Amino acid sequence: MNKETRVPELPGMVDACFLGPYGENDGLLEKLVVEFLRDHVYWRRNFHPADPPAIPTSATQRAGYLQLEARMRRELHQLSAALKQSVPFHSPRYLGHMVSDLLLPGLAAQILTLPYNPNNVSEDAAPVTVDLEVRAGLQLARMLGYADDPSRPDCAFGHLASGGTSANLQALRLALALKAFPVALRAAQVPMGGLPDDDRAAFGLGHDAGIALLQRWQDWLGELPPRERREWRARVEAQRIEQLGIAAFFDRHRDLRVPVVLAPGTAHYSWSKGLKLLGLGRAQLQAIPQRAMRMDADALSARIEACEREGRPVLLVVGVLGTTEYGSIDPIDRICDERDRAQARGFGFGVHVDAAWGGYLASLFRNPDGSLRSREAVGDGLAAFPAPHVHAAFAALGRTDSITVDPHKLGYLPYGAGAFVCRDHRTMALLAEGADYVFHGETPGDYLAHYRSLGLYTIEGSKPGAAAAAVHVTHKVLPLDHAGFGQLQRHSIEAAEAFHAGARKLAAAIADVAAACVPFVPDTNLVCLAVNPRGNRGIAGASGFVRTLHDGLRSNLRQPLQAHEFFGSVTTLHLDALDTGDRARILDALGLDAPAAGEDDGLVILRHTLMNPYLIDRENGISYIDLYFAHLEQRIRAGLR
Ligand SMILES: *Cc1c(COP(=O)(O)O)cnc(C)c1O
Repeated sequence: MNKETRVPELPGMVDACFLGPYGENDGLLEKLVVEFLRDHVYWRRNFHPADPPAIPTSATQRAGYLQLEARMRRELHQLSAALKQSVPFHSPRYLGHMVSDLLLPGLAAQILTLPYNPNNVSEDAAPVTVDLEVRAGLQLARMLGYADDPSRPDCAFGHLASGGTSANLQALRLALALKAFPVALRAAQVPMGGLPDDDRAAFGLGHDAGIALLQRWQDWLGELPPRERREWRARVEAQRIEQLGIAAFFDRHRDLRVPVVLAPGTAHYSWSKGLKLLGLGRAQLQAIPQRAMRMDADALSARIEACEREGRPVLLVVGVLGTTEYGSIDPIDRICDERDRAQARGFGFGVHVDAAWGGYLASLFRNPDGSLRSREAVGDGLAAFPAPHVHAAFAALGRTDSITVDPHKLGYLPYGAGAFVCRDHRTMALLAEGADYVFHGETPGDYLAHYRSLGLYTIEGSKPGAAAAAVHVTHKVLPLDHAGFGQLQRHSIEAAEAFHAGARKLAAAIADVAAACVPFVPDTNLVCLAVNPRGNRGIAGASGFVRTLHDGLRSNLRQPLQAHEFFGSVTTLHLDALDTGDRARILDALGLDAPAAGEDDGLVILRHTLMNPYLIDRENGISYIDLYFAHLEQRIRAGLR
């Protein structure tokens, strides 16, 4: 088979993926849950089958038992009743936040694993699921374009985290550890050759040279007799930033300044949290200007040069692959080019991609053999996706240093599953808590063995093995290439393209009463819509009108769920933060005046996440997208009457 042609979707494949909007696959899920619950019970019984039942068979007739059972039922019924007011994420009428129906293989694997209750903090508490977590990390690494062969010394490594927030914090911590480590080696006066000449050179070594130095240090240590090895390790540990703390480290190294993190203005607020937590301070998060909601690579280049002139080190440049508000894709390729240029000047830093949202879209760009698909192949049958800059960004992921990706977002899995993946697993040695970090002379079997004490490397301690089982099984059932997981992502992109077309039609249809526009051509599967009533020229008026529209599109405990036709979300577009071209274009399209000095520049707009695979219901010939726009038009007209 020519690998550049699209593998046609097997009829019915997606229909087996979810419980379904109507609970269509109730029989399948029930069969799986009951089958594996029984299986679990047999496992208990077969542990020491001759041990008699400790709970007497007559227990069910005793008063205390009956009372507790009754209480349990009552409380569970109340919980179940209350949960009926939940947000109906499973429905194609839900277009709000980054969540949809859950994948059956993941849900079933999670339910199956829960009664075993494995704790992925270490293999003692999770002999099976720790391995599954490390393997899931390799599955993600392969999708993202990192080396996934554990026999390679520079093989990638990934682990799960509570979410993208924790994964982003892990990226910050790793980048800081790697940046400061060569400085510690110098300060400890390690007598190995080839150390950087001064602190500034050590701090600006960059990722690759930093890893090479770490490897040389470990090789050097490996040659020493055990006592000396312990002593030298302790001497270096005493100089590390993790030991000294930020204040003492920079106090000792007066030539160095606290480094900054460069990220686009729309970066998720987890970056601000991370800088606060790490003690670097939020002031060290610098926003790089954007154009059409994507990081402006020229502005990045200028900022890096300015930092270099001012003697201000850069810790990390963060590119976003699918921004939380617009799904836009930063120029990851250009960011890597800038990193390479700066590194060649001795002004090195790391590149992290926050792909919490868009990471799984990378499955569309992979052939089953792991190779990259051409733009033409990915876009076959789609209207505009992927734009050339989008393809270039995905193609460049393998050049970055670490990536955050959330299985609980576009991976359609239950919450509590984010992931952190780094390009070269040897860097993880620097995060190890108290362990002697030697990755020296390992064989492939050692790779898995090495990470069985996972909690030494992760921010979390106890962590759910059931989540790891869910992620791993799902990736096995739906491999992370275009013929597997990519099929789901493709539905999402198709829906987003149909939605974008629908939004333009709506704008034309309501032109007599309101101006409407999609402020930025969507790169992926989030589409925003700005609306302004005719005659209104103030931002506050437009925002107020959209807030009223949104009131009918959000959960409201005072109303029965069925009273909601659709669910959507809103975001605030800060006009003064925009590139002047974008700002003028959007104000003009909406007939708004520029915000006066001191006036709130935040324009509230509708935001839609197109994740549900049944937004276009081909079985019944229903487009929930068309229904949504009809509903919206009616609401807009009613609101203006
Ligand atoms: C959602 C998101 C995060 C945070 O992830 P959580 O899982 O909510 O902690 C970070 N970055 C981006 C781009 C996101 O979309």
